[in-house]
Amino acid sequence: MTLWWARRDLRLHDNPALLEAQADSPAAMVFPWGPALHFWSGRRRAHLARVLWSLREDSGGALAVRRGPAAELLLAAAQESDARVVWAQREFSPAGVREQDEVKAALEADGRELRFVGSPYAVAPGRVVKGDGSPYQVFTPFSHAWREHGWRAPAAAADVEALRPLDSDVSLDQEAAHGDAEDPLEARHEFRETQILDDLRAFVEGDLARYKDERDRPDLDSTSHLSVPLAYGQVHPRTILAATEKVRHDAARTFESEVAWREFHADVLHHHPRGQKESLTPALPDDAWTTGREADESFGAWRRGETGFPLVDAGMRQLAATGQMHNRVRMVVASFLVKDLHLPWQRGADHFRKALLDYDHSQNQLNWQWVAGTGRDAAPFFRIFNPETQAAKFDPDRRYVRRWIPELDTPGYPMPMVDHKAEREVSLAHMKRGKGAS
Ligand code: FAD
Repeated sequence: MTLWWARRDLRLHDNPALLEAQADSPAAMVFPWGPALHFWSGRRRAHLARVLWSLREDSGGALAVRRGPAAELLLAAAQESDARVVWAQREFSPAGVREQDEVKAALEADGRELRFVGSPYAVAPGRVVKGDGSPYQVFTPFSHAWREHGWRAPAAAADVEALRPLDSDVSLDQEAAHGDAEDPLEARHEFRETQILDDLRAFVEGDLARYKDERDRPDLDSTSHLSVPLAYGQVHPRTILAATEKVRHDAARTFESEVAWREFHADVLHHHPRGQKESLTPALPDDAWTTGREADESFGAWRRGETGFPLVDAGMRQLAATGQMHNRVRMVVASFLVKDLHLPWQRGADHFRKALLDYDHSQNQLNWQWVAGTGRDAAPFFRIFNPETQAAKFDPDRRYVRRWIPELDTPGYPMPMVDHKAEREVSLAHMKRGKGAS
């Protein structure tokens, strides 16, 4: 028997690691419910439980979900099923790399082997490099080279008949119950793999044609909503790209370019792991940040969606209620935290980590750095989003803000907590000081 270590690839279709595990013998499937999950929000953990539940259903009950650290569990499962080889998808985030090193060491010490195939990306981080072998720092040339590099066609589906069940010790029903049953997104984001593939097909045949024109409109909400299944590996970007490649329309190229951003951010973090915590291009002097009680109060108002800026507040309330937020609004709330409230991007990124259903370490940290103007290829620091003009442009009928702020236009809604124009000037002055110092 062989073992498949289920990681961020929770699917039966187009899964090279699972196919390798089944190539020569029956395979067992194990997902370690590790200690790191304690730091996830209840909603995110509940979502994972539902995804695992649906994979277990689809695999005829074969998936074992076991509580404990990956290295310990996989060694025990390999011994129990007499598997000499464990197959897994390779991870590239700092935490994923640490975990797979531990698993490898534990298996090898027992005369067993961890073998990798595939990654959560169409092209694995580190593969697309410049002519001189160095990594790309800028998105556009990266995306050209990434397209030129190309990717494999989607793989076949796993053979469910050839899977062998092991016992589970995690009650997925109980874990799934921690989620908010009223959550409207959970109703829309069906957890079944087949449903996700149907949704992908429906998007490609429907909203994709309007993607270029509508992708920035939170009121229309017509983007693909694929970031959630991508975060858990219920669909692979290769499968998505195979579906959009056939579409001639320009909008499909714009959409593919967003998928390329996901690959670029993973590549940047792979080459610069310190970017998970530190600014890759410091834009402001260290003493530019608001600190102490004032910082905590500002942060609290931002987190609760009580800044008095409707687009910021609507976004933060959508996040609190559903674990989701439209990309345009993520940019506006992030810019507001860094450039109007003068708080460090890391604080906002940490809040997103706890709240987002589609949380992905490289995407979150580097998108925050993009907005803060501290990333490798980031918006320049002086690009400061004006939350009011953004709202007028991208939510022209105020449908999005009204949906999330019932008391809008009543005396119950707070006055703007800052003067945007004045804070913009403060940020620009900090930036000039930072430039002068460097
Ligand atoms: P679509 O517009 O339909 O795009 C299709 C796919 O392209 C997405 O599913 C996603 O995989 C990729 N994509 C789109 N925009 C981006 C982008 N800006 N950067 C990287 N990939 C992108 N995305 C995450 O998946 N996880 C995160 O933790 C995350 N944190 C973010 C934090 C901030 C401050 C910002 C500004 C953006 C963040 N994003 C994150 C990127 C983006 O907001 C989401 O991927 C997008 O909103 C998901 O909706 P969708 O699937 O409908 O996107």
